[in-house]
Amino acid sequence: MAMSERILIAGAGPAGAALALAMLQAGLPVTALGLIDATAGPADGLRGPDSRILALNAGSRRLLEALGVWEALATEAHPMRSIALSDTALESNIRLQSLGFEAEPGEPLAHLVPLGLLQATLRAALAGAGLSVRPEILRAFRADENSLMVETNRGRQNVSLLIGADGARSAVRRLVGIPVHGWAYGQVAITGIVEHSGPHHGEAVQHFLPGGPFALLPLDEGRSSMVWSERADVAKRMLALPPDDLRAEIDRRAAGWRGTITGIGRVSSHPLALGLARRFVGPRLALVADAAHVVHPLAGQGLNLGFGDAATLAELVIDHLRLGLDPGDPALLETYQARRRPAAAAMAAATEGLNRLFSNEIGPLRVLRDAGLGLVNRSERMKAMFREAASGNGRQQPRLMRGEAL
Ligand SMILES: Cc1cc2nc3c(=O)[nH]c(=O)nc-3n(C[C@H](O)[C@H](O)[C@H](O)COP(=O)(O)OP(=O)(O)OC[C@H]3O[C@@H](n4cnc5c(N)ncnc54)[C@H](O)[C@@H]3O)c2cc1C
Repeated sequence: MAMSERILIAGAGPAGAALALAMLQAGLPVTALGLIDATAGPADGLRGPDSRILALNAGSRRLLEALGVWEALATEAHPMRSIALSDTALESNIRLQSLGFEAEPGEPLAHLVPLGLLQATLRAALAGAGLSVRPEILRAFRADENSLMVETNRGRQNVSLLIGADGARSAVRRLVGIPVHGWAYGQVAITGIVEHSGPHHGEAVQHFLPGGPFALLPLDEGRSSMVWSERADVAKRMLALPPDDLRAEIDRRAAGWRGTITGIGRVSSHPLALGLARRFVGPRLALVADAAHVVHPLAGQGLNLGFGDAATLAELVIDHLRLGLDPGDPALLETYQARRRPAAAAMAAATEGLNRLFSNEIGPLRVLRDAGLGLVNRSERMKAMFREAASGNGRQQPRLMRGEAL
């Protein structure tokens, strides 16, 4: 592949690492690619400080299979076969199911994969492909017609394309001056593994409570991953409780749908915000994943979207390089933005709408949403539509997410 200058990815989180791996596996020489990260390395497997376990859809699973890393994740990847939703006040003794979805035969709705393990596995695969993540912090850059000069804490280099995979507080996005539409939700997600006396049968539950959605997502038998979104002031109080009192609060929210909550593992907390970059591209640069968009975790779609960005950009860059074209070509970048921004904007709007609709106690709204949920629950066509949108299936998906090689 003819390349005079390099591609630099800033940020080796799951999106940046997957993008780098995809381009290397498609034939980009390792000398043509740089991958830097501000932190020394991801937490080791399951023992890191971040207890997030992510629901990855079929499109993401196919991408990870195509990258050759799914096998290393599969023993820790638990299938989610159905989901049940309820909409009630915290005080109600009886919580009825308002809506339920089941997977199509043969393909779970999603797999639950620990974020720490995903990061460690992707980095190990990169090392196997001969690329080590350089511990460097991106500080500044300047683009001209022919290249882009990047400055890190270790020095300067010229590249043809800079990819900002540097997360929600992206330095790439800030330095180029791309504004973000969005706001803080005033909610915090408390995540962790909980143990329960009842079985889950591969079913996820999400209770829409006035403080925010409370979800239990199935792991191995008797254990679920909790994603508890709560008003920030209440979350702060909850996190300061002694373990047994915290367990009792979780038990209250779980409302007996999994028997009794008998234990909680290490919990971590994540302030929640909505953010959509006004542009996903700039001169010789592109933003991917959380650097471009951050959505509420209630639909478990943040990294699924991010992997869609990574797969799309890898495809466009590789196709360009095969034709001997410049990977920083404005036409390539415009195509990338046109393919990815609408999907992110639609997901941001959907999750924002759902969170607003459900995270309150306004009586007339409750009646309306109960009617709406009942309607969806009775319509197989509408359910199929939601399933299709969440699964990462469909012809619009980039090649890697359809399971095809680049
Ligand atoms: C509670 C919660 C639950 C979630 N559940 C799901 C789910 O079920 N399914 C799902 O798909 N998504 C989920 N998400 C979203 C998902 O966690 C994120 O979308 C994903 O982790 C973002 O990955 P990323 O690679 O874009 O960014 P990050 O993982 O944030 O990585 C960015 C990297 O950039 C580096 N960096 C930052 N600044 C610089 C710099 N100046 N120079 C160099 N490097 C830099 C950082 O060190 C970091 O390693 C959830 C999110 C939350 C908060």
